[in-house]
Amino acid sequence: MPEVQAHAERLTEQFSGRVLDRFTPFNFTALKTAAPPPDSAYGFPLIQVGRRGKYLLVRFEPVTFVIHLMQGGRLVPDPKLSAKPRGGQARFTFAAGDVIDDVNALLLTEQGKERRAGVWCLSADEVLTSPPLGRLGPEAAGITPGELAVLFGRKSMRIHGFLRDQRMIAGIGRRLANEVCHRAKISPFATTKKLSEAGAVVVAAAIDSCFAESLDYERARPDMSSSKDRVSAVHRRTGEPCRVCEDSIRAVEYSGYTVNYCPTCQTSGKVLADNTTSKFLK
Ligand SMILES: [Zn+2]
Repeated sequence: MPEVQAHAERLTEQFSGRVLDRFTPFNFTALKTAAPPPDSAYGFPLIQVGRRGKYLLVRFEPVTFVIHLMQGGRLVPDPKLSAKPRGGQARFTFAAGDVIDDVNALLLTEQGKERRAGVWCLSADEVLTSPPLGRLGPEAAGITPGELAVLFGRKSMRIHGFLRDQRMIAGIGRRLANEVCHRAKISPFATTKKLSEAGAVVVAAAIDSCFAESLDYERARPDMSSSKDRVSAVHRRTGEPCRVCEDSIRAVEYSGYTVNYCPTCQTSGKVLADNTTSKFLK
């Protein structure tokens, strides 16, 4: 999740050292934990906003707030401090700083009515081992071919599913799963056991380069991109020409996501069962 990584860096730059005054959830689903209470962090300076997998970690000495933004969630500076912010899930209010123009709050918002974004308040020494982070696999960013080969050997999975499975490897979403397979020139349906060590070398390199490119793009922005802003080689480009070979990008649709791939680059020209067309043929 390069967009989450760059956003964490941005928030650290803007807010680290600021002393927490209040944490306010705006509805009863926003805070997912009962203890320790958020007020354990009151009076403490923000150490850092970090990232683990797809989660933001808002770190104070006694507790860490773990935030999952889900699809349309944002954690943004909040100069308005309105009583009922639109889409507002929760707010961190900091003590007024020395600079009068400083924004003193961060607002967690979520568009739509799903309310799936949430905050976990966890004791700092247990945060990485408790839900929701406890069962995450190793970070995708910086994974070595050797580590990846071990994970490949554990269980035979389709590579696209493996990459999206946060318990296997953390931090790759639907877009990067498509992009990594294309960059590695492997079929999204190749199995991890067959890919083995040679496959792990190629996939680790593809993760590295896709992540680095997206991170550069995100770091150059003033705020977190939305999915439509991100430049992709295959993701969401069904029917468009491949940027490498000009073959037409294909899609296999599932209920929660779409697998996009280029037949020439990834499957020796073979077109995989496209259930979007076949459903009309039934
Ligand atoms: Zn291609």
